[in-house]
Amino acid sequence: MRFFALRIRLLATAILITGLVAIASPAADLPVAADTLVLIVVDGLRPEALKQAKVPVIDGFIKRGASTMKAQTVSPSLTLPAVTSMLTGLPPQQHGIIWNDYEPMRGYVKAPTVFEIASFAAGKLAAMFLNKEKLLHIAKPDRGLILQVCSMTEPGCNAQKIATAVIAAYKTATEGKPSVFLIHFADPDTAGHEKGWMSKPYLQAVEATDRAIGTLVKGFQQLGLYKNMAFIITTDHGGHDKTHGTDSADDMTVPWIAAGPGIKSGYVIKRPVSIIDTPSTMLRALGIVDYFVEWNSQTVEEIFTEVVTPDHPSVGGNPTR
Ligand SMILES: [Zn+2]
Repeated sequence: MRFFALRIRLLATAILITGLVAIASPAADLPVAADTLVLIVVDGLRPEALKQAKVPVIDGFIKRGASTMKAQTVSPSLTLPAVTSMLTGLPPQQHGIIWNDYEPMRGYVKAPTVFEIASFAAGKLAAMFLNKEKLLHIAKPDRGLILQVCSMTEPGCNAQKIATAVIAAYKTATEGKPSVFLIHFADPDTAGHEKGWMSKPYLQAVEATDRAIGTLVKGFQQLGLYKNMAFIITTDHGGHDKTHGTDSADDMTVPWIAAGPGIKSGYVIKRPVSIIDTPSTMLRALGIVDYFVEWNSQTVEEIFTEVVTPDHPSVGGNPTR
């Protein structure tokens, strides 16, 4: 019931804000922001892998963006709870998805997700490309949602295939184009479980994923979208031996990289970052700062080139400015 009430409040906020933006926001007041945001989750990516593997595309994002190699995931350090935290801005104990399998009868996450907020507050349509079926627990059907699951258990569902599918889906989207993406690549996690984290096959899977991200970049460039796009590249967890899920540094410490319009270049983030801080930072990168939701997500403000103080930071803001 609590979250249902929140959704109603969100919707009310969206209506209020849409009105405000239409009437009262000269373009000059808007922050430097991206039109489109892509959240890339490279499943099981340890920061050390970015040093040991050849990852020119991700290196490029680090150079032109802001990053930390010391971000922390949530406990338990498992895919479904962690990705849910990344989208709801809540720890697993609060968003309630503490299992790590696809259990259709348990339904969708109840807490509002960043996709819903972007939709309510700014009319942004979402697209999700999932490499694991269990992530369907976070893919709440919403207006215009493009949803593709290419499960790692199906032959050929690798990072390259998913990247190609993203661009194809964008081109063929007829009912509005998506502008908030979740793209999940599971190859490094699969190799980690089979051959061990930091093993040669694992590093090769990281390299293959980097090439797939390159395919995405090229595709978005050809579509003429790239210069107005922001990217956040991170992961759900690290790993050790052939597993993860513990509170050890190898499992918990993750890279977190953001790049795009309005985001500092070559910047090393100083403050501690949790993957829970991802959704509010996503919205901020899109210039969406007026919304109301109860979550623990704290925008990583230091990555942005301009300081933005919302004119009307919550429902109770001043509509006359
Ligand atoms: Zn795993």
